[in-house]
Amino acid sequence: MNWLELSLEVESELADDIAAALIPFAAGGVAITSSRIEDDERSGHVAGPLIIRAYLRDDEALEENRTRLERALWYLGRIQELPDPVYTWIPDQDWQTNWRKHYKPLTVGERFLIVPAWESPEIGGRIPILINPGMAFGTGTHPTTRLCLRALEDILQPGDRVADLGAGSGILSIAARKCGAALVHGWDIDEHTISVAEQNQALNKVSGISFAAGSLPDLLASPAAPYDVVFANILAHILTDMLAEGLGDSVRPGGHLILSGILADQLPPIQKQLEALHFQHVALLREEEWCAPVIKKLPSR
Ligand code: SAH
Repeated sequence: MNWLELSLEVESELADDIAAALIPFAAGGVAITSSRIEDDERSGHVAGPLIIRAYLRDDEALEENRTRLERALWYLGRIQELPDPVYTWIPDQDWQTNWRKHYKPLTVGERFLIVPAWESPEIGGRIPILINPGMAFGTGTHPTTRLCLRALEDILQPGDRVADLGAGSGILSIAARKCGAALVHGWDIDEHTISVAEQNQALNKVSGISFAAGSLPDLLASPAAPYDVVFANILAHILTDMLAEGLGDSVRPGGHLILSGILADQLPPIQKQLEALHFQHVALLREEEWCAPVIKKLPSR
C-alpha cells in the first residue's frame, strides 16, 4: 500500500480546523508538526508555523477523497488564504521513516510523557507512553487526545474498569492501564488500527488491555459493561448519534464519561443531549478550539 502525503504550512490558529477537515479523508492519519516543542504550565505544545500532513491511502477512493478534501480546503481558504497543498507519494516502506522525522517526545498534562517508540528521552518522573503511530490516530500531538489524557489523570481511580471507544493507536487505553485501571477494553471501527494498538501495548509492556474491531453495540454488549470510565474521542456528529443510541448506558452509576473530538461551536447541542440523560457536569476541558466534557452518571433514582 502506497500513500499520498498532503502537506500544508499554516498559521497555528487555523491548524486544528484544517486537521479536523482532513481527518475523514486521511486513512493514514493527520499529523500537525513543528520543529519546536515548547513546555507551558500544563503541557508541551508545538510552536511556530505549523505543518499539517495528511496521509491518503492509494486505493480506488483516492481521487474522490482528494476532490472532497480540496473542496474542504477551499472553504477554509475563504476564511483565511491558504497556500496550495504539496502532494508527495510515500512508498509503504518509507512510512515509519517519515513519521520518525516529525514526531518528538511530548509532555501531556501533569503526568504523561508521550515517547515515539524509537526515542529514549529523559523521563523526568513522568509516566512514559511509548507510541509507534503506524496508521492510527492518537500520537498525543492532537488536542482531542491530550484533553482525554488530562481528564484521565484527574478522574481515573486505581482498579477502575475502562472502555476506550475509537481506540486508534491505543494511547488512552495504555495510559489508563499505566495509571492503575484493572482492565481496559478498546474498540475501533477501523480494523487496521487494532494491530497498531496491540503493538503499542506490547511496546509499553502492559497486560490487561484487549483491543477489538467494533463500535458502540460491542461496547454495550460487553460482559464488563457498565464500565467505571468510558472514553469516546471520535467526532461530534458520531458522538451525537452514539448518545442517542445508548452510549450513556455503557457507564455505571457514579462512573465517568469523557467525550472528545468536539469543536467549541459543536458543543451546545451535545450539552443539551447530556442534560436530557441522567448525567452531572464535572468539567469542561478545553485546548484551542477543542473541548471535552467530563460527565458523571448519577445514581439511578
Ligand atoms: N483514542 C485515540 C484515537 C482517537 S481518533 C485518541 O484519543 O487519540 C478516533 C478513532 O475513532 C479512529 O481511530 C476511528 O477509526 C475511530 N472511529 C470512528 N468512528 C467510529 C465508530 N463509529 N465506532 C468506533 N470507532 C470509531
